[in-house]
Amino acid sequence: MRIVKQKEFDTFSCAADKCPDNCCGGWQIEIDERTLQSLKDYEGPLREPIDKAVDFEGSCIRMNENGRCELLNDRGLCRLVLERGESFISDICHLYPRHVEEYEGIREWSISLSCPVAAKMLIDRKEPSEYIVTDDDEPDPLEDDFDDFDVLLFTKLEDSRDVIFDILNDRSLGVYQRMKMILSFSHELQTLLDDDRLFDMDEYIAGVRSQKGDRGLSDDTAGSALLDDRYRLIGYINDNSSVLYRLERLKKDWTSDLTYLADICSGCKDIDREYEDAIKSLGEEYHEVILENILHTFVYTYYLGSVYDDRIYAKISMSVFCTLLIDLIYMCARYFNKDRNGVDAYINVAYRFAKEIEHSDINLDIMEEFSEKLFL
Ligand code: SF4
Repeated sequence: MRIVKQKEFDTFSCAADKCPDNCCGGWQIEIDERTLQSLKDYEGPLREPIDKAVDFEGSCIRMNENGRCELLNDRGLCRLVLERGESFISDICHLYPRHVEEYEGIREWSISLSCPVAAKMLIDRKEPSEYIVTDDDEPDPLEDDFDDFDVLLFTKLEDSRDVIFDILNDRSLGVYQRMKMILSFSHELQTLLDDDRLFDMDEYIAGVRSQKGDRGLSDDTAGSALLDDRYRLIGYINDNSSVLYRLERLKKDWTSDLTYLADICSGCKDIDREYEDAIKSLGEEYHEVILENILHTFVYTYYLGSVYDDRIYAKISMSVFCTLLIDLIYMCARYFNKDRNGVDAYINVAYRFAKEIEHSDINLDIMEEFSEKLFL
């Protein structure tokens, strides 16, 4: 069995009561069957809070009037963990922000951008993203669940993702050019897949892999040409940001970020200048590194999932769109509140964004479907 992890994965440590947010509130937290049974059988001083906090019918945590789990103490720590230890809480509480994607014989772990500590580890670093791969002889415990798994397509997705990572790590090219290249690459792969030309994909991937520079991936489509001009691009992303109002709302406090977005259209006369200032506040070069890091995180988490739905191009276009939306929201938040400036403010925007998008299948579907048409 093969295990893949982001380089940062094993060093993640929860900030607990020092966390600027708290993952135990504001969204639906499901409880697995094993934990539900333990909570039903529990006898002890937390019986009453457990009954208040747990929706046994719906198998989830019921939030109190402040939108938080009733089992948190005044310092934001889980009373169940303090009394019984980590093994007593549900898998989702125990694992978060660790996230796993399962493929036949492969398990890929990531830390989620939606946790502020994880977001800082993933975004605020200058060296290129790296992944740690380990193999062992253990059989996949989920082997029987993969009867219909498309191994042939999966190998092509793995190979093509390696090429995408190589492109993303090539800092001799501007980050917007790299976005354009991975859009073009994934679009061609999608065409080959749709035409049922699976074997031609190998040749195409090998051809792109063997080249340097723009790798023959600089053709313009109407949408991707925008990536040559970051000011036109940010205006275009702004014009399309209204999709965010169609999403299922998970956290009420995200409304302020959305309000900034809405207000920028009416309040800001000169988006180009504001955007230039926002980039300068981070440093031109570091801004590119931040975009690269966020893009890497989205591609790593979602790209291989196209083995289940055949939507290669949608995964890449969503990754690009989400990265650019975070950039735009940072600019808006900074315009309306000059204290929200610099990399920590950027991380704040990024984790709140990820919290809304990445923890709702409905929202991910909407974003994928919408992004798919944006850069064509
Ligand atoms: S959001 Fe992250 S750092 Fe904060 S409490 Fe949850 S896991 Fe810990």
